[in-house]
Amino acid sequence: MKIIKNNLYIIKLCYKADPLWIIMQVLSTVLGYVLNTFISIYFLKYIIEAIEGNRSYGEALFLIFGMFFCNVVVNLMDSYTLDILEPKGLVKVTALLMEMLYGQAISVDLSCYENPEFYDTYTKANEQVTGYASTIIRTITRVMGILVSLVVAVFSIVVCEPFVIVIVVLPVLVEQFLVKKYTEYKFNRDRDTAYDRRKVEYVNRTVYLSEFAKDIRLSNIFSPIMRSLEHAMKQMRKTSKEYGVKIAIVRFFRTIMAELFVYLGVQILIVYQYLVHSAYSLGNLSMLLNAASEFSDLIGGFSWARNDIYECGMFIENFRTFMDYKTKMPENENGKIPNRESVDICFKNVGFTYEGSKTPVLKNLNLTIPKGQKIAIVGHNGAGKSTFVKLLMRLYDTTEGSIEVDGIDIKEYRLSAYREIFGTIFQDFKVFAASVTDNILLHGNATERDKERVKEALQNSGIYKKICELKNGIDSQLTKEFDKEGALLSGGEFQKLAVARVFAKDCEICILDEPSSALDPLSEYEIFENMLKACEGKTIIFISHRLSSTVMADKIYMLEKGEIVGSGSHAELMKQNGKYAEMYHMQAKRYQEEQAYEA
Ligand code: ADP
Repeated sequence: MKIIKNNLYIIKLCYKADPLWIIMQVLSTVLGYVLNTFISIYFLKYIIEAIEGNRSYGEALFLIFGMFFCNVVVNLMDSYTLDILEPKGLVKVTALLMEMLYGQAISVDLSCYENPEFYDTYTKANEQVTGYASTIIRTITRVMGILVSLVVAVFSIVVCEPFVIVIVVLPVLVEQFLVKKYTEYKFNRDRDTAYDRRKVEYVNRTVYLSEFAKDIRLSNIFSPIMRSLEHAMKQMRKTSKEYGVKIAIVRFFRTIMAELFVYLGVQILIVYQYLVHSAYSLGNLSMLLNAASEFSDLIGGFSWARNDIYECGMFIENFRTFMDYKTKMPENENGKIPNRESVDICFKNVGFTYEGSKTPVLKNLNLTIPKGQKIAIVGHNGAGKSTFVKLLMRLYDTTEGSIEVDGIDIKEYRLSAYREIFGTIFQDFKVFAASVTDNILLHGNATERDKERVKEALQNSGIYKKICELKNGIDSQLTKEFDKEGALLSGGEFQKLAVARVFAKDCEICILDEPSSALDPLSEYEIFENMLKACEGKTIIFISHRLSSTVMADKIYMLEKGEIVGSGSHAELMKQNGKYAEMYHMQAKRYQEEQAYEA
């Protein structure tokens, strides 16, 4: 039942994408089948009857021309459907499925990306569903054609020799069981190779994507990657071989059932009835033999089609499982809309542990950030600074305690509206293959006013002059992915561009999560200084492990192993002479040594 439902689900989608294609496909396939069945059962019978003098020459000629004409019409419909409508329809269906698939992929929880099972389902849904759309449409229409043709064949047999049906039914039932087994083996083979196919896909990506190109050329990292590819291939060969033997055995018995029992049995019966009992005329003998052979072919075709339907149904299940995935962090359509005038943040006993891990990354965090305050969160790598930001932005939910904005638990807000109050740059920000403007606004509908904002943001982040030197200024394409004249900037320049995103966004809370790791301390200091000027009145959360930049903050929180080990202004923390002061002195000393060395 589920299998049928899954197939209908995809057919509905295809019909929604291109109704003309589906209607024509049904018409041309069903007509094609019926015509073929009719010709193979009745053509010879009528010709024999004409030879025997039971039909006129005119009748025979009418039959011959009639069939020729019908064949021409069906072939024309077939060509129009398969060569013109189907390719167009498939592009539309693929676009629709991709839109659904990608829409779901970008809305699932971030934690899904750390879950290999999720990745497997996604990979399977992604690589199979579009390929199966055409198979399903062809198969379902084939089944319709087969069923109508079966009615014609059964009718032709039953009028002359009803016993033939009995000979056919038993092997057909056994065959249905074999079909089920056959499909199950194929599905399991696919399931068992999914993990290795994902490995192959990963290797493919590392070779293809530019972000890996330098490391691969300058290091030996490709050899372990290749080893993992070889291992995956070996596993896939082993799995394919295991299932290959089972599939071959089942396939052999299926053929025997159809060929030996059905075809042979029916022929023996009909020939016996004709020769021993003179049960029918020569014309009817030809009709019966052809109808029996057609019947057996149609049943065989039906089993294979059923097989395809079953197979498609199982694969569509992957797509539906993925599409049915309910995010743990839903949009909350009826949630509250944040009051932008009052965005005081309060962490209450917040703790957090990543899924699948036992060690908490954040423990018992209590802090308040009033609107407009400039705070810095500092600490060594791995202290939990980025996790702090992810919780605040609701990319993850706290596992203990709660976060409030304006005195309201952040889970009560409408998710998209809540995230809109933030302008954030992450450590691992990405530059998209799009124009400078789109890369800063992060949407594709820039108005003239937006462009002015982009220019101002670029000035504040200190990269405007460089962008003006590009051929098309702020409309220049970034990266050479789709445009060979696309601009490539240095790591530091890309970082300044990313910072400009925050400057350009109409947000209340600006977060910079170590966006300056590729910048020298002076540039980082400059960015922070510019930010203080450009984001007057807004809350700023600056995350860094470099303390020289954070001295300007109103309040600094020092994190260590997920806990706050010091808080206050720079002066206060230095006076406390705790971990912060220790880290500050250490960094200052190293900086002075570097300066001396360079001098
Ligand atoms: P910081 O930003 O201070 O360098 P993070 O917040 O990125 O630190 O990470 C804190 C700890 O959480 C680290 O030990 C890191 O390995 C771990 N961690 C970060 N992200 C994940 C994740 N997605 N799953 C499991 N552990 C994670």
